[in-house]
Amino acid sequence: MPRRAKLLYTLQQIDTRLAVKQRRYRQVQASLGESEALRRARGARQAAQDDLSRQRGMLRDRELEAASVTEKLRVNDERLYSGRVTNPRELSDLQKENEYLKRRRTELEDKQLEAMMGAERATTKAAVTNEEYIVAEAMWRDENAELGQEYDALRHDLARLLAQRKTVLERISAKDLDEYDALRRLRKGVAVVAVREDMCRVCNVQVPQRDLQRARETDDFFYCSGCERILYVPEEE
Ligand SMILES: [Zn+2]
Repeated sequence: MPRRAKLLYTLQQIDTRLAVKQRRYRQVQASLGESEALRRARGARQAAQDDLSRQRGMLRDRELEAASVTEKLRVNDERLYSGRVTNPRELSDLQKENEYLKRRRTELEDKQLEAMMGAERATTKAAVTNEEYIVAEAMWRDENAELGQEYDALRHDLARLLAQRKTVLERISAKDLDEYDALRRLRKGVAVVAVREDMCRVCNVQVPQRDLQRARETDDFFYCSGCERILYVPEEE
């Protein structure tokens, strides 16, 4: 009874499935971390928040500066109109200083207005990027939930396939396994192919009737003349 080729074919089917699942497993494992979109959204939100505190700080500085100029003007005016200062030189100096302070106050008011608009823009930007981050995070959570399920399923499948592989291996001789491993390395991971309608399923080369007959009756290996893989000839239905 042909048994060796059949066992190797069973092993081949398990290994092919294993290769597919392992590839997907590695992909899922890699995607399970944070997504690029989530990291980007978080970075944008942080940048907007940093900018907002910078703009608010600037606005505060300008308000303080304007307030101090206004206070100085108030004190000067008080002295000017108090009647206590009578020295003409001192009066003239005070008036000059007041003119300067008034110009300075106008400048500062312009700058303050600029800073207010900057802070307003930064507030809007911070709100928008925060909203975008919330959306990105929700999407990432959804994706992750699905991926997490797939990850668990893959781990389960891999464990089952590895157990099957172990069982099959117990019935395969070391020599056959060596040949199988060597052929897999040479032939893109596929060492054993099934014959269907008297043809190799991989390269579609016709298998001679004589080989088919003997493959069914003996336990020898027969090889495809096209791709040189071990042939597995299923029993006739
Ligand atoms: Zn072939």
